[in-house]
Amino acid sequence: MDIQIEHECSQCGGKKVLSEATRFFSCSYCGVGSFILPDRISRLFIPPVIPSSDESSHLLVPYLRFKGTVFTVSSRGIAHRVVDTTQTAATMPSEIPPSLGVRPQAMKLQRAASNHRFSYLPKTIKNKVIFDKVINISNLINEDELYHLSYIGENISLIYLPLVSDGNVVRDAVTDRLICDHSKMEEALSLGAADSFKSGWQLDYLPSICPHCGWSLEGEGDGVAFICQNCDRAWELTRDGMVKIKWQMVDGGIQAHCYLPFWLINEAIPELNIISFADFITCVNLPMIPKQEWHQRDMSFWVPAFKISPKSFLRAGKQATVNQWKIEPGKGKKLSGFYPATLPSSEGIQAVKAILAKTTASPKKVFPFLPRIKMKSRGATLVYLPFFDKGHDWLQPETGIVIGKNNLRFGRSM
Ligand SMILES: [Zn+2]
Ligand SMILES: [Zn+2]
Repeated sequence: MDIQIEHECSQCGGKKVLSEATRFFSCSYCGVGSFILPDRISRLFIPPVIPSSDESSHLLVPYLRFKGTVFTVSSRGIAHRVVDTTQTAATMPSEIPPSLGVRPQAMKLQRAASNHRFSYLPKTIKNKVIFDKVINISNLINEDELYHLSYIGENISLIYLPLVSDGNVVRDAVTDRLICDHSKMEEALSLGAADSFKSGWQLDYLPSICPHCGWSLEGEGDGVAFICQNCDRAWELTRDGMVKIKWQMVDGGIQAHCYLPFWLINEAIPELNIISFADFITCVNLPMIPKQEWHQRDMSFWVPAFKISPKSFLRAGKQATVNQWKIEPGKGKKLSGFYPATLPSSEGIQAVKAILAKTTASPKKVFPFLPRIKMKSRGATLVYLPFFDKGHDWLQPETGIVIGKNNLRFGRSM
């Protein structure tokens, strides 16, 4: 479930509630559009209700929130799970809840900012330890031999739970529930002193203008790639700012009412002797006879650039990759019906191994090689494919990809 964050415009201070996936927003007070750079981990807190005599005596306990899809490839096959959890990120007395449960979804959170004088407990547990716990909880790995594990489309943030000291005891500063004796908290504090707000925690913003021509860039709030209406250049919002990306499209004519974005990732896999598309078809043992020209066609993987259920994600990636020879993308030109790219290209590259695993008809020939494959791809091309309206579904005629409209809606909240 999505988290709602009370956001303050960096230009005019106007308040607006944003979803945690928001990367682009336009302020309804001053009209200024901004991008939120994705590099830093968001630091959010549940606003305290119980006042403290001195604000700095509100003690904020960190929880790591992980929301995303975990894919595994093991001797048992391919498995996936959508995970949405919070786990304590500091060594705490046992009375402190190990997870925040549904509390972050039940109320509007606020971003840590310099005007709050809270004491933030430091995060003392490494992400890796927390992720391993997430994997254990989701029951994805048993005794099987694990060949591959990836987190796709994940959203990671720190959410703080406010506590308040009240004489010799510590209370939950939202529910006023008694947590533990102050002495127990002192032990936890001895592991790392509490911090006040650090300037490095501040989010970075960029004005939403095309870096090439200065035209105002428009798009959906959860988009990660934007096309300039004026100069037709495409940009991806990355931790280094707006990066120019290559983009193409297949014009679907008047029948195409929706264009869905895919990342086209050129990737040879020498570990499996895959250089050309013909090598790929032979390696994954599909019942197709490679055409002569496929030997000259560089291998590329096609990964959905939007979030949908993991099952449909793998299936769409497989169908686009296997049927790529039927599509000839040309120069991109912005049309209506473009669906926003909501999955960054770096995540698309991380999904290649899972899509390779999904495609193969000979798991024993491919799966054991997955750990050895080194991904070399440094970039991806954004390609929009045309989809036709089939009532409850969108259909891509050349590749046969069918995507439920409900599934796309679900993907926006993933
Ligand atoms: Zn504003
Ligand atoms: Zn432009």
